[in-house]
Amino acid sequence: MSRNAESTAFRSALEVIRAVEPRVADAIGAELTDQRESLKLIASENYASPATLLAMGNWFSDKYAEGTVGRRFYAGCQNVDTVEALAAEHARELFGAAHAYVQPHSGIDANLVAFWAVLADRVESPALKKAQVRHVNDLTEADWFALRRELGNQRMLGMSLDAGGHLTHGFRPNISGKMFDQRSYGTDPATGLIDYDRVAEAAREFKPLILVGGYSAYPRKVNFRILREIADSVGATCMVDMAHFAGLVAGKVFTGDFDPVPHAHIVTTTTHKSLRGPRGGMVLCQPELADQVDRGCPMVLGGPLPHVMAAKAVALAEARRPDFAVYAQRIVDNAQALAEGLLRRGAKLVTGGTDNHLVLIDVSGYGLTGRQAEQALLDSGIVTNRNSVPQDPNGAWYTSGIRVGTPALTTRGLGTAEMDQTAELMHTVLTQTTAGANADGTPSKAKYTLDPALADKVARQATDLLAPHPLYPAIDLT
Ligand code: PLP
Repeated sequence: MSRNAESTAFRSALEVIRAVEPRVADAIGAELTDQRESLKLIASENYASPATLLAMGNWFSDKYAEGTVGRRFYAGCQNVDTVEALAAEHARELFGAAHAYVQPHSGIDANLVAFWAVLADRVESPALKKAQVRHVNDLTEADWFALRRELGNQRMLGMSLDAGGHLTHGFRPNISGKMFDQRSYGTDPATGLIDYDRVAEAAREFKPLILVGGYSAYPRKVNFRILREIADSVGATCMVDMAHFAGLVAGKVFTGDFDPVPHAHIVTTTTHKSLRGPRGGMVLCQPELADQVDRGCPMVLGGPLPHVMAAKAVALAEARRPDFAVYAQRIVDNAQALAEGLLRRGAKLVTGGTDNHLVLIDVSGYGLTGRQAEQALLDSGIVTNRNSVPQDPNGAWYTSGIRVGTPALTTRGLGTAEMDQTAELMHTVLTQTTAGANADGTPSKAKYTLDPALADKVARQATDLLAPHPLYPAIDLT
C-alpha cells in the first residue's frame, strides 16, 4: 500500500465532512495537530493505526446486529457476522483464550458483562433464570424483588483505588459498587507492592464471590497464578481486568504467571490502551462461562457496534504480527528508562520503579499536589494525568501523584534516549514549580507558580524531541 493512500483517505474524508459541517472537519484536523505536537504520557492512551481508524468510519455504523454470530435478532447481518467472527478469532488466537466476546463498547461494559456472567453462573437464582428466558415485560414486580434478593449483596474483593485499582472494581461512584458488597486489598506501605499473603487473608475473611485482579495505576507485574490459587482456596471466581496491560500480554512481555489468560476464569480488557486498537472492550473466558458472557447483549449492552468490531478485527490482526511483540517490549524498556531517568534526578516513584508501561511519581517530594504538577507539566507541553498514590493524603481530586505511561510515545518511535530527555524536561518543570496560596494565606492544592518563559522553553524542547518521530507521517492534511 502506498503511503499516499493514507493521506488521500483522510484528506478525502475531511473534504466530505467539510461540505456538511466545516467546524467538525476543522476540529478533527486540529485534534491531529494537537496530538502531533504534545508529548503524550497518558498511560491509558495510544495512537491507533490508520487502518484501524478507517475501519471505524463507514456504513457498518448503520447496522443493528443484536445477538451473536449466526443468531441475530435482525435480518441482514451476514457481514457483521464476518467481522465479529474475525475479531473473536484474532482475539482467541492472540491471547490463547477459549472464548472471546468482542461486543463490549468500552472497558466498563466489558466488566459489567463479566460481573453478570459470573453472577448468573454462580448464584443459584430461580428469578434470574426466569428473567433470562422471559421478556422483561412478562416479569412481575415480585419477580424483580426476588431477583434483587437472590443476586444482591454478593461480595467482590478487588484492588483499592489508591493502590491503583479501578472504579469499576466495586467502588461507590460506579454501578459495580452498588451491585456488590465490596472490600479491597491494598499494597504493602513499605514497598508499594501487592502482598499476596494479605490478599489471601482478606479473601479468607471476606469470602468473595469474585476476586478481581488488574489495575489502572500499579506499576508492577501481578502474579495471576497466585491470585487464582487464592480465589480457588475460597471458592471465588478469579476475574482479571487487563485493560491497561493487554498490549503487554498480546506482545508476550507478560507470560507465565504474569499472563492472566491461562489463570483467570474470566478476563476483561479495553482495546484502545496498550493494545492500540479502537475504543472498546472485550471479554475472554473459559468455556464454562461462554454462554453467559455471550448474553452481554441485551443483559448489559445495546446493539453491538459493528464498525468498532471491524476495527477490533484489524487491530487484533496487527497485534498478531511479530512487530507488535517488539513494540510491546519497547513500551516496557521505555517506561523503565523514564523511571530510571526520573529516579536519577531525585524523583520519588511508587514501588521505586516499574516493570510495565507506567510510572507513578509521588510529587509530594516537590512540594506539589498532583493537580499542580499536572497543570504545570501541561503548560510545558507535557500531557500527563494526576493520580492518587497509596494512602494519599490529598484524596482522589487533588492527589499526590502523576501517572505517566509510554504506549503512545513508543508508537511514535521514541526510544530510551528520548525517555531520559523526557525525564529531564519533567524534572525541570517539577523542580521549578512552586505551590501557591489561597487568598487567606492557607496553602492551595491547585494554585502554583511557574515562570511562563520556562514553560515555553520546555514546550519547545518537547516539540524538538518529537520532531524526528512524526505522528502518522504518511498523513498530510494540507
Ligand atoms: N478497567 C480499567 C483497569 C481501566 O483502567 C479502565 C479505564 O481507564 C476501564 C476499565 C474502563 O474503560 P472504559 O473507559 O473504556 O470504560
